[in-house]
Amino acid sequence: MTRIAAVNNQKLKDMERKRHIASMCPVNRGGAECMYVEGSKLLINEELCIGCGICHNLEPETIAIINLPEELQETPVHHYGQNEFRLYNLPIPMFGKVVGIIGRNGIGKSTAIKILAGVLKPNLGEFLAEAGYAQLIDFFKGTEAQGFFEKLRDGKITVAYKPQQIELIPKSASGKVKELLSRIDEKGELANVSAALGITQILSHDIRSVSGGELQRVAIAATVLRKANLYIFDELTSYLDMKQRLSVSRFIKSLADSETAVMVVEHDLIILDSLSDLIHMMYGKEDAYGVVSMPKSTKAGINEYLSGYLREENVRFRDKKITFEPKQGVEHKEEFVLISWSGVAKRLDSFSLAAESGQLSKGDVVGVLGENGIGKTTFVKILAGVLERDSGKIDPLVKVSYKPQYLDSDSEELVMAALSQAISKYSNQLVHSLDIKPLYTKKLCELSGGELQRVSIVACLSQDAQLYLLDEPSAYLDVEQRLMVSKVLRDFMQLKGATALVVDHDLLFIDYVSDRIAVFEGAPALHGSVHGPFSMEGGMTRFLKALSITFRRDEVSHRPRANKEGSVKDREQREKGRYYYS
Ligand code: ADP
Ligand code: SF4
Repeated sequence: MTRIAAVNNQKLKDMERKRHIASMCPVNRGGAECMYVEGSKLLINEELCIGCGICHNLEPETIAIINLPEELQETPVHHYGQNEFRLYNLPIPMFGKVVGIIGRNGIGKSTAIKILAGVLKPNLGEFLAEAGYAQLIDFFKGTEAQGFFEKLRDGKITVAYKPQQIELIPKSASGKVKELLSRIDEKGELANVSAALGITQILSHDIRSVSGGELQRVAIAATVLRKANLYIFDELTSYLDMKQRLSVSRFIKSLADSETAVMVVEHDLIILDSLSDLIHMMYGKEDAYGVVSMPKSTKAGINEYLSGYLREENVRFRDKKITFEPKQGVEHKEEFVLISWSGVAKRLDSFSLAAESGQLSKGDVVGVLGENGIGKTTFVKILAGVLERDSGKIDPLVKVSYKPQYLDSDSEELVMAALSQAISKYSNQLVHSLDIKPLYTKKLCELSGGELQRVSIVACLSQDAQLYLLDEPSAYLDVEQRLMVSKVLRDFMQLKGATALVVDHDLLFIDYVSDRIAVFEGAPALHGSVHGPFSMEGGMTRFLKALSITFRRDEVSHRPRANKEGSVKDREQREKGRYYYS
């Protein structure tokens, strides 16, 4: 059995501690040198390690000792360095198809993408040597990857890549959107692409002043305008509302033709499901090793991912299945009402908001659906009394804590300091559940998108409040983290008898997290109206009807899936008015 050891020397910095851990290793105690300090690094000789786990128990956050499954006795495609991350196998782009990648953060998706893009030369496990194309072609002989690397060698692959964290773009770019896009418009299609992505009206805006959803579409346009035959998108959907997600994914799908391959990393499973022709799953242990599965049909692949067991590979990578059971609506009694409103109206310059009548119950998680810019934040500010209403009744005003949609931090403050209140008050419920401890000594400005998201959720929930508004908590989180956040939110609201309004555009996440659904309708930036909260079925039906899409439940995992427009199921459900099948 192959044993691998991974040490995160960036997180484990204390030299004294490194020497102490090495001194506790039984192999070292027997006189051999299994653990040793070289320069500033603590290293483990995997040949000598007996897998006792003592070092991991002393440093569970930074040292992993893993016995690899039998099937992984093969050579990794890439190994960053001694006791660092290893990647096994590669996802392979296919011309004319959209290939999706699904997997946890930290499992090697970016590494795989960089290799395909020719930016990172893989070393086939020999981390002191870089493999040449001849070696790679030989390594992958007889597989799809062989053909791919032959083309890459011959200069026949040109890659255009959209990175995950689009917030970084305005930090390095400046000027008007149109000027920026014109500079990279190798195809001369700026006008068409902008129209297809719905950004024509912001072309004259400064890149530093556009919203998150606009920036996402500008980044997609910047990728698509390049002349390439392999387009890779690392997360398409963050900050986009459902309508935008659907139109952007239709556009991306249309890029794939006999000369062009498309690859997407995506955590919104509804979008991944309707966008991809094939998917690869990635599993393993974050920051230690990642394995790319064979390509699978999208439907079966997503179901296998949720089940935690890969049939063909015979690998179990999660103890528990993820299933989606229809929820029964719970009627709340009067004494559990947190806040109620009726006839609320508010005008802000050219935007007006109206809320008929509704109430929120203590302990409830209410999913909020609606386009960007339609008044969700404004409404919650009115419920908190932070913003005066023009008319209508609210009883009583409540204390609100708010997590914004768009996260960006230049702060040098340590996570430990920023979350001191959460750490002292909710170390189990929040800090432990959302796996924040490994981030303690990082600065806020050093966090990745997913890390900053979890820190922001914890910061929001640790405030003393009766109503929590979380705007797009799923952005940058992987599927497992989205489900973990759902559970934390539900448990926390129950425990505190508080209420959460969760604005999100990942419908699978909303399906999982919510007890009830509120729907915002109207025209972004002009007028918005608040409806509900309704039962899950009532709210989803109202929302989906307006978007003119129907959903069914998958017969195996029971997850919601979008029906193909005009399919038998779609027509049947439309006729019956059952847009949301439950
Ligand atoms: P959401 O949270 O759904 O994205 P918001 O409530 O933030 O929407 O905004 C709804 C609309 O109201 C937007 O067009 C926004 O520009 C406008 N708006 C929000 N606050 C103000 C304000 N203080 N003055 C003028 N317009 C505002
Ligand atoms: Fe040493 Fe045991 Fe850690 Fe291996 S697992 S490095 S033998 S302490």
